[in-house]
Amino acid sequence: MRSLSGIPASSGIAIARAFVFLDDDEPIIPRYAIAGNELAGEWQRFQVALEKAREDIVLLRDRAKREMGDEHSAIFDAHLLMLEDVDLLENIEKSLNDSLLNIEWVLHQYSSSVVSQLESLDDPHFQERSSDVHDITHRILNHLMFRERFSLADLPEDVVLVAHNLLPSDMISMTRQHVKAIVMDAGGKTSHTAILARAFEIPAVLGLSGSVRSIKNGEMLIVNGQAGLVIVDPDTDMLVRYENIRARVLAHNDVLIAMAGQPAVTKDGIPLVLKANIEVPDEIETVIRHGAAGIGLFRSEFLFLQPGWAPSEEDQFSAYRRVLAAMNGKPVTIRTLDVGGDKVMPDMAMSAEKNPLLGWRAIRYCLFDVEMFQNQLRAILRASAFGDARIMFPMISGPDELDAALAALDVAKQACRDAKIAFREDIPVGIMIEIPSAALIADILARKVSFFSIGTNDLIQYTIAVDRGNERVAYLHEPFHPAVLRLIKRVIDDGHAAGISVSMCGEMASDPAAAIILLGLGLDEFSMSAASIPLVKRVLGSVNRTEASAIAAAVLTLESHRQVEDFMQQHLGGLAIQET
Ligand code: PEP
Ligand code: MG
Repeated sequence: MRSLSGIPASSGIAIARAFVFLDDDEPIIPRYAIAGNELAGEWQRFQVALEKAREDIVLLRDRAKREMGDEHSAIFDAHLLMLEDVDLLENIEKSLNDSLLNIEWVLHQYSSSVVSQLESLDDPHFQERSSDVHDITHRILNHLMFRERFSLADLPEDVVLVAHNLLPSDMISMTRQHVKAIVMDAGGKTSHTAILARAFEIPAVLGLSGSVRSIKNGEMLIVNGQAGLVIVDPDTDMLVRYENIRARVLAHNDVLIAMAGQPAVTKDGIPLVLKANIEVPDEIETVIRHGAAGIGLFRSEFLFLQPGWAPSEEDQFSAYRRVLAAMNGKPVTIRTLDVGGDKVMPDMAMSAEKNPLLGWRAIRYCLFDVEMFQNQLRAILRASAFGDARIMFPMISGPDELDAALAALDVAKQACRDAKIAFREDIPVGIMIEIPSAALIADILARKVSFFSIGTNDLIQYTIAVDRGNERVAYLHEPFHPAVLRLIKRVIDDGHAAGISVSMCGEMASDPAAAIILLGLGLDEFSMSAASIPLVKRVLGSVNRTEASAIAAAVLTLESHRQVEDFMQQHLGGLAIQET
């Protein structure tokens, strides 16, 4: 039994066997010691994988010969010869015997050293040989790790998904009901993988920085998403202990969900607006179960991240209409496509950008891909005839960009009028405030829109210059940084001065301590993953508005995020609010 600790990214307890998923970019090669009497079995595994790799290559060679001729099939003949290279096989066997480590690791190490030797030779012939070695090794490793038999889309049983770095598109395509937890080397609390894990109520521990390598496929794991803890190969006592904890957590969640029907009000009876963020229409059931007052953020880009599917105007229209109908008159804010950063559509050139977080993201991409943007705007406008739809533009950095987005909306409205399609002429239009430049000119932007929604995930990222998905700097992604708090106050004040409503859909809104400060700063609406609503409702229900204002005023005088944290700790302690 051993434990690993990482970033607590999505709460909940799970107990299941590990499924080690090999992402192509940086596959996790397991590394573990074996005993002397296991050597023969390990070598046998290698022989089996080698034979399967040989069968693959023969098939590929025959197909290449049929379709492209001998010239193109020769490369596979060379691969087959390499598989029979006696020196090579002897070297691998010797490394296995000497190191007493598993064969995947031995093979990986051996091939890496051969590849780097070949690459260091300044001759194109050897450079090519190095990619052959890489290719063959990859093929054998895939067989050793059963990669071919599994894909995330058809997981056959309950597993804890273990990966170096799952992309949001992997999260969308996986068989969700079988993924009991997620454990990953990469990622921070506000990375989109973490956001999706919370949305799907899957416990997750991220940012394990390389230590997932020690987890073997099929090993039993306990994942404590609240504490950021992964217990590998637990003993019976630990399993029993965690079964009990899990039962308690589930019971506590039931208590919180039972509050769904109760009104959201502060202690002194001031109504609160607590909405949900969603990524895919399927989340609606969870949203309703947790008593959301509406959808404050529909991340429409996730419709576009389904592998092999580019949603048409019609597809989008039916997705938006479905959500609006399910919300039964409650407001639904649909954010236009926010791709880029870690949300890359498979066929987009942007994946090759050097600085994707500062590049062709969100509204910048939409203003370029006019046809796609018009399709989406028309789909939202058409859906607006079926409920209280609102439009929100992401990543607005200044007035010109906003004017261009508003002009695009005018074009889409005119197209609907011309086609005699019903839509809501005065559909409310708002923007995300998630770039410091926008926060600093909120007074100017506020004159052009009917609401703001503060996206703290990105606002913090860009204010503190900290990649929200990079586990190495995750400790810097700090909502209580005085610079962040000042920007938030400014946006709320400027929005109110212009008479528009200001909400927050960044993850900060779901943090109990932050929620009290935000209430005190005058935030009008909170939007968060649905599962967070009951706790925030309970926390905000335990303070008076005036109390919250005094807390916010005091917090704004503090000089570091640590001071704010300590200050809020005392206040939360006083309120005796218990988290799951
Ligand atoms: C944000 O940036 O805070 C936000 C809500 O948008 P996303 O997390 O999708 O970037
Ligand atoms: Mg954002």
